Amino acid sequence: MPQQLNRQTLERLMQYYLCINRDFDPQGNQTIPSARLAQLLSLDGTQIRKDLAAIGVKGQCRVGFEISRVAEAIRKALGFENVFRAVIIGAGHLGGAIAAYEGFARYGLQVVALFDIDPGKIGLNVGHHVIQPLEKLEFVIKDRDVHLGIITVPADAAQECTDRMVKAGIKGIWNFSPVNLKIPPEIISRHEDLSVGLAYLSYHLTHNG
Ligand code: ATP
Repeated sequence: MPQQLNRQTLERLMQYYLCINRDFDPQGNQTIPSARLAQLLSLDGTQIRKDLAAIGVKGQCRVGFEISRVAEAIRKALGFENVFRAVIIGAGHLGGAIAAYEGFARYGLQVVALFDIDPGKIGLNVGHHVIQPLEKLEFVIKDRDVHLGIITVPADAAQECTDRMVKAGIKGIWNFSPVNLKIPPEIISRHEDLSVGLAYLSYHLTHNG
C-alpha cells in the first residue's frame, strides 16, 4: 500500500493540480521548476518537492518537474481516475446546486440520485436528476453500489439521514449540514461547514478590512 497522505498534504496536492490545470497544459510536455510552482501558490519549494516525492514524482536538477507527470501522479494518488457513485439527500438550494454541477465529474464523482421528503419536490427535475422519495434511499444505495452520501438537509434531519445511509452500507459521508454528525470511524467523512469559512472572512474584514 502506498504511503498514507495526511489531510494537509492532500489539500496541497489538490492546489498543485488546480494550478497546473489552470495555468498550463496538463497533457503537454512543459516542465516547471518547483520554485515557480511555489511562487504561483505562495508556498515553499521544499514543501512542494517533498509532497511530490511522496507520490513518486521527482524533479530534475535545473529543469524541474514534468507537468504531465505531476498531473497524472496527482490524479492517481487522489483517486480521480476512479468513478465513485454518490447520492444527495436534501434537494434544497445547496443539494440542487451540487446535483446540477457537472464539474465534479472530472474528479470521478457521479451523482446517481437525489432524495427529498417534500412531496411537492418529488418528481421534479434538477439537472439530469429526478428528485426521488427518501423511501428509496436504501434500495438505491445497494442497487447502484453507492459509495458516498452527500447531506444537504437541515440540521435536525442530518443525523437520521446519516444513520440510514451508514446502515445501508455507504462508505463515505460529505456533510454540508451545520451539525457535527456521529459517524462510525470506519466511514470516511468530511464536514463542510460554510460558516467556518465565513468566520475567517468576517475576522479579517473586521480587523484588517
Ligand atoms: P427549500 O428549497 O425547501 O427552501 P432550502 O434550500 O432553504 O430548501 P433547507 O431548508 O435546509 O434548504 O432544506 C433542504 C432540503 O432538505 C429541502 O428540500 C427539504 O425538503 C429537505 N429535507 C428536510 N428534511 C429532510 C429529510 N429528513 N430527508 C430528506 N430531505 C429533507
